[in-house]
Amino acid sequence: MTHVIIVGGGIGGLAAAARLAHAGYRVTLLEQRTQLGGRVGLFERDGFRFDTGPTLLMMLDPLEKLFRDLHRRLEDYLQPVLLNPSYRVFYADGTRFDSSPCIASMVREIAQKMSPAEVPNYLRLMADLSAMLHDVVPAFVRRNYHSPLDLLGAGQIRLLVKHRLLANLYRRVRRYTRDPRLQMLFTFQTMYLGLSPMQSPWVYGILTYMESGEGVWFPRGGMYQLVRALETLAREEGVQISTGERVEQVMVESGRAMGVRLASGETIKADVVVLNADVPTAYQNMLPSSKQASRKWRNSCSALVFLIGYTGKLAQLLHHNVHFSADFERNLQEIFVQKTVPEDPSFYTCLSVRTEPSDAPEGSENLYVLVPVPNRSGQDATSMKNEVLRKVLSRLEREAGLRRDGILFVQDISPADWEAMGLWQGAAFGLSHDFFQSTCFRPSNRAPFEGVYFVGASTVPGNGIPMVLISAELLQQRIEQETGVRRGKGQK
Ligand SMILES: Cc1cc2nc3c(=O)[nH]c(=O)nc-3n(C[C@H](O)[C@H](O)[C@H](O)COP(=O)(O)OP(=O)(O)OC[C@H]3O[C@@H](n4cnc5c(N)ncnc54)[C@H](O)[C@@H]3O)c2cc1C
Repeated sequence: MTHVIIVGGGIGGLAAAARLAHAGYRVTLLEQRTQLGGRVGLFERDGFRFDTGPTLLMMLDPLEKLFRDLHRRLEDYLQPVLLNPSYRVFYADGTRFDSSPCIASMVREIAQKMSPAEVPNYLRLMADLSAMLHDVVPAFVRRNYHSPLDLLGAGQIRLLVKHRLLANLYRRVRRYTRDPRLQMLFTFQTMYLGLSPMQSPWVYGILTYMESGEGVWFPRGGMYQLVRALETLAREEGVQISTGERVEQVMVESGRAMGVRLASGETIKADVVVLNADVPTAYQNMLPSSKQASRKWRNSCSALVFLIGYTGKLAQLLHHNVHFSADFERNLQEIFVQKTVPEDPSFYTCLSVRTEPSDAPEGSENLYVLVPVPNRSGQDATSMKNEVLRKVLSRLEREAGLRRDGILFVQDISPADWEAMGLWQGAAFGLSHDFFQSTCFRPSNRAPFEGVYFVGASTVPGNGIPMVLISAELLQQRIEQETGVRRGKGQK
């Protein structure tokens, strides 16, 4: 039986393991940490529960497809709840805006808080973004690339021209609305990829549509339930899962994968090795030298995360909240161009206790704060975390009535911690998604050694839970094509 070792138990590794086991392979998954899930982490203390990485579940389709492909029903494993409003936006001028996936609510909110004249602009923008999303996903996202020429198919070129996919996102949104608050609202979503909206191509407007148009979901019990659901699925399919097992080296002989060597010195043989680790780190530390190892990659930004146990109520805050800096453009320049820690940071807050009351003790809040900062190739926010926290808390005193004496504890996750997890330069969102690191230019899911593959955020199609789940679909297609094993035809 063809033996596949998956190195890493992030969302990508778990989904790939379940898919490949279902397709007829013998699958072993090795995770270096004691907790599965990678960046989808869990922290619990004194009756408070926090998700430590992702907090927004968007674009349910790849998740539903995973369970459907494995002849299961998603709802038997996970109960996602659609949030409405999706989130509250706090602008520095005092405007508070509740974003919603319901068009009628958005129309009312825009008319009341911005101007009735902006309503048709919003409707036009959403219609154009929706059309782009439905064209772009099958043509560019849900596909394996074999060479850059794959981008030059007649269908791809027609879509590039039709939607002007490579136009600048920030400038193009300005053509829909003159209100700077709406410009921020409809572009900041590229920061989910660790990318500045000012440097993003228009095609990333599909993120705006995924979030503003289709909405934001939260799994009952928290984001970590997603990890538990995928772990259950993988184990049901017969995947052998071991935690606390760090892979030091992929063993390659005559250009072909032979297995892996663990930090303990033990070796495990395999026909196929799938790396869920960050691609630059894997090329530099785990694989024999190759051209890829010396490639000059570009990274996304990083994040300072604060998990705050708070006694009292922050009634102004919803489940998700976005707090824009007074000068958003300067804020972006600082993070992405000057690579300095922002003077007046924009940040995001999450209180999952709004949807899941058991996430904090009675009368308390589980306050999650995420501040985008440069990765460690620039100014290191790790040593400035206390100063950043002070600025965030001052703003929350004004906007949400936070009292310092209500803070019971603060647990932080800094760029140095993301780096310790194996993310090169502490870039929490991994490889950047600029043009030459997207589609056919992104690291392929096939390494230049026979039998070695990648899955996850730093290979195709990219970062974020939905994309990582699609990366597991693409990996399965690729491996099945190259090894010819399929359930029914295979040895299982
Ligand atoms: C702060 C933050 C907020 C985010 N918010 C969102 C959000 O709201 N919505 C969203 O969709 N996405 C969000 N993301 C992105 C999302 O978390 C990632 O895209 C996704 O979790 C990446 O999954 P992955 O499987 O590719 O990699 P990872 O989660 O990084 O998993 C890789 C795994 O491999 C293991 N590993 C690495 N090297 C080895 C080795 N040598 N031996 C054994 N194991 C190894 C690691 O320990 C890890 O468990 C966020 C990310 C961060 C950091």
